[in-house]
Amino acid sequence: MSSHPREELERRFERRHGGPPRVAVRAPGRVNLIGEHTDYNEGLVLPCAVDRDTLVCAAPRADRRCRVFSLELGAEAEFDLDALARRGDWVDYVQAPLFALAERGHALPGLDLGVTSRVPLESGLSSSAALGVGVAAAADRAAGLGLEPVDWARVAHRGESHFVGVGCGIMDPFASALGRADHALRIDCRSQEVRAVPLAAAAVRLLIAPSGVRRQLAQGGYRERVAECSAALDVARAAGIAPPGSSALRDLGPGALPALERVLEPRLLRRVRHVVSENARVDAFCEALAKGDLAAAGALLRAGMASLRDDYEVSTPELDLLCELGDAAPGCHGSRLTGAGWGGCTLHLVDAAASEAVAERIAAGFAERFGRRPEILTARIADGAGALADPAG
Ligand code: ADP
Ligand code: MG
Repeated sequence: MSSHPREELERRFERRHGGPPRVAVRAPGRVNLIGEHTDYNEGLVLPCAVDRDTLVCAAPRADRRCRVFSLELGAEAEFDLDALARRGDWVDYVQAPLFALAERGHALPGLDLGVTSRVPLESGLSSSAALGVGVAAAADRAAGLGLEPVDWARVAHRGESHFVGVGCGIMDPFASALGRADHALRIDCRSQEVRAVPLAAAAVRLLIAPSGVRRQLAQGGYRERVAECSAALDVARAAGIAPPGSSALRDLGPGALPALERVLEPRLLRRVRHVVSENARVDAFCEALAKGDLAAAGALLRAGMASLRDDYEVSTPELDLLCELGDAAPGCHGSRLTGAGWGGCTLHLVDAAASEAVAERIAAGFAERFGRRPEILTARIADGAGALADPAG
């Protein structure tokens, strides 16, 4: 596990809150290996936790107040457990899991909290889920609720979607809470079933390259894709290709594509082709990982990228170039954009021994064309959230 500025956090905790923390937990960021734009189609995703985490320290209080500080933001705040209210800033992400715990009927004491994170904020590694899961786990420990990691994930998801009000799926909090070192997590977004898929070749690293493009277009584009999927499903149902009660494109397999070609306009057909083929790629990727066949896994990443670029049309020139550069570098098995697209970052599956050289080639090639060097992160597949040994104080 990665080393933490834990001493610094505990020192600041003691200074801010006038006493030492009683519990400490960590919750990692995540990256999605494959299975993009499948979640809202009730399909398959395959994220893993990465070795960058958020650390949360806590101590229960005798009253109903909560006080929290964040080392990253250099900010602190106070709120009352009986008057949780959205403020439109980072404190919402701290209140959200407490709101969801209360909603489930758990009795919580007031809490003193301190937060620090090695998950970069707002860069696609889901610092929000790491914070939500971390606060849920810290509150659980501090209050002695005895919850399981999957409960932290559900609480974080409920909080982010209903309290913060961000339309997010279960993937991020599930990956942060349930991740396993050297395993990917196959999540069925319909049944919420989670299976850890071993990565037979442990000497693998993930490179995460930021495109540097803020996803301003993402909101509108994302909603448009969701609507297109739903429109395509309507047509498929009306034509008797999807079962009458079908609620999502998940119900269509590759075998349905020839029939769909006859009834869907070309744009909707491309969207469906991506979703259907992407679900199949998730299972093929799991098989390749379990066999340690990194060449096959890499080919699936490249196929997924082509599908996102050409059929789903969510890539950008920056993302395209990052993937081309990665795929051309020796030791890189495959690349694709990860996250919704329209910006954000790319993911590259590389041999550990080659990771520095691949990162350098991507950064240099990108700088040549776009005039700025992306700061590429090298990550390992890590364990999900958990309690750290209780602080000494
Ligand atoms: P991502 O999850 O991709 O990193 P989001 O926009 O979903 O990006 O969530 C990022 C937000 O989560 C930040 O803007 C901030 O409000 C909150 N957040 C995450 N980590 C921290 C932290 N360590 N301290 C304070 N706020 C944080
Ligand atoms: Mg997020």
